[in-house]
Amino acid sequence: MAEDAAETKRALNEAAFREANDDIQAIIDGHGADLPAAPLVCECGDRACRRLINVPVSTYREVRKSPRRFFYDVVHKGQEDPETSTIETHDHFLVVEKTGLAAEIAEARWASAQRG
Ligand SMILES: [Zn+2]
Repeated sequence: MAEDAAETKRALNEAAFREANDDIQAIIDGHGADLPAAPLVCECGDRACRRLINVPVSTYREVRKSPRRFFYDVVHKGQEDPETSTIETHDHFLVVEKTGLAAEIAEARWASAQRG
């Protein structure tokens, strides 16, 4: 179905943004910088979005323990798609959790990234 294809594409975009953010985090860690917050790209899966959000490093590490959780800019509050629920609202960003197909794709990408 076309709807599934669109959903798959968005989920893959979100996973790609998350991987880009993980690279940013790896660079920060590699330099031994003790930063309070990390600049991340919004992980909403819309390639036109590209908003930057400052996420406290401790929050980042906590949320990254789950492959289903992503960071969105707070502007997306109330616009989440049916397979996305906001589980935390912060000043400048949201922590969302994926369900359904989007979650399956996110987990599959996560598993292949862990294998390196
Ligand atoms: Zn966004």
